[in-house]
Amino acid sequence: MIVVMRPTATRQEVEQVRRAVEENGLEAFLSHGEERTVIGVVGSDLERVAHLGTLPGVEQVIRVSSPYKLASVAHHTERSRLRVGPVEIGGGQELAVIAGPCAVESREQLLETARCVRREGARMLRGGAFKPRSSPYSFQGLGLPALALLSEAREETGLPVVSEIVDPADVAAFEQHVDVLQVGARNMHNFVLLKALGQSRRPVLLKRGLSATIEEWLLAAEYVLAAGNPNVILCERGIRTFETATRNTLDLSAVPLLRSLTHLPIVVDPSHGTGHRSLVGPMALAGAAVGADGLIIEVHPDPARARSDGDQSLGFDEFGALMDELRRLQFVRATQVADAAPAEDPAAASIGGIEEARRGIDRLDGMLVELVQQRAALALEVQRHRDPEAHGHDVRRERALLERAASGATGPMTPVELTMVFDAVLRASRSVQRRQSRPAVDASDAPSAAAGSRP
Ligand code: PEP
Ligand code: MN
Repeated sequence: MIVVMRPTATRQEVEQVRRAVEENGLEAFLSHGEERTVIGVVGSDLERVAHLGTLPGVEQVIRVSSPYKLASVAHHTERSRLRVGPVEIGGGQELAVIAGPCAVESREQLLETARCVRREGARMLRGGAFKPRSSPYSFQGLGLPALALLSEAREETGLPVVSEIVDPADVAAFEQHVDVLQVGARNMHNFVLLKALGQSRRPVLLKRGLSATIEEWLLAAEYVLAAGNPNVILCERGIRTFETATRNTLDLSAVPLLRSLTHLPIVVDPSHGTGHRSLVGPMALAGAAVGADGLIIEVHPDPARARSDGDQSLGFDEFGALMDELRRLQFVRATQVADAAPAEDPAAASIGGIEEARRGIDRLDGMLVELVQQRAALALEVQRHRDPEAHGHDVRRERALLERAASGATGPMTPVELTMVFDAVLRASRSVQRRQSRPAVDASDAPSAAAGSRP
């Protein structure tokens, strides 16, 4: 702490500050400048001299060290890694995806969702039993009976469960059924609740308050840590800004910033952070890209009928596509679960199990690479006979191809999936043609020695 005296401060006023510091068991280092005196204050309990700013002759008091001790990187230089059942989160572990419904609505809804998110590779299940809604007339959650359903879902799927606690009196019931106790954004400043959770050993997922600064948020974490529970996970879930186009403004800069301030694991919630289903996937990927330790995502079997937050909930297919993308970008490793499962699929079984099916896929992939290269070589041939200024394409032929693809759905691919494939082939083909028609080829764009890119 540094105490800056006014230029007009008298010698007695400077002495009074020094005495106040030393009487409280701290050390004072005086530095007399041309214009004013500054006093460095050193010691472990600076709270004891929090009043220095009120003494006569003092212009300002500057805190140098952070007000949160246990949460800070200075206290704990290694990133914390927490264990939740079989899952480890933080400390450089693989991104942990937590997924499930906003609220537990029924046994079927919860179990169906739990099975889906597990199959897709989520590591924990979320589900609200108590919903602190903005309106008292909105669905408030099933309450305690939902906790037993969460337990049942954990038993069946093996996924640890995360659920929001709103009342300190419920800690024992939650400890019985829930693996991670969530503190909702509206309760981040509920210090009675935070202190009660400090008595628990269960990890606490602490959401950022709707209008909390990073420092206020870390001080809220400090309440739990200081009360004795070292297992705190921070969750960025968007803050209130002037923007109304999104439900909240997801502050992703908080993730790398927190990384420099705290050792605690950090999770991003793109569902509450955006409020719109279409934005959840992109912001989940962005959260992973800025280094989050986990993501928490709302998933519902039928979002249109969800009793809360349907607009921001992903359907099963959408969640599956997001997990595929997270795996493709290597934020999430392929799970071993799929490999361990017996080959029940009759198609796979009939050609000799999973290994043989994979060899078949590799063979076909090799042929596909050859075929698309041959196709691209012919596209270049077409381009050579066209006006070099034009890299246009015959839209009618392309449309006919897509229609043919769509109607030729006799295998497992749906017309939409087949169209996705040919759409990609056509886009790549246009890209090849465009490059050829460009006068000066960038080195970075130049084709490699692949066979089909030769004239
Ligand atoms: C929730 O995750 O269910 C929730 C209510 O979120 P928040 O507290 O961030 O609004
Ligand atoms: Mn919700």
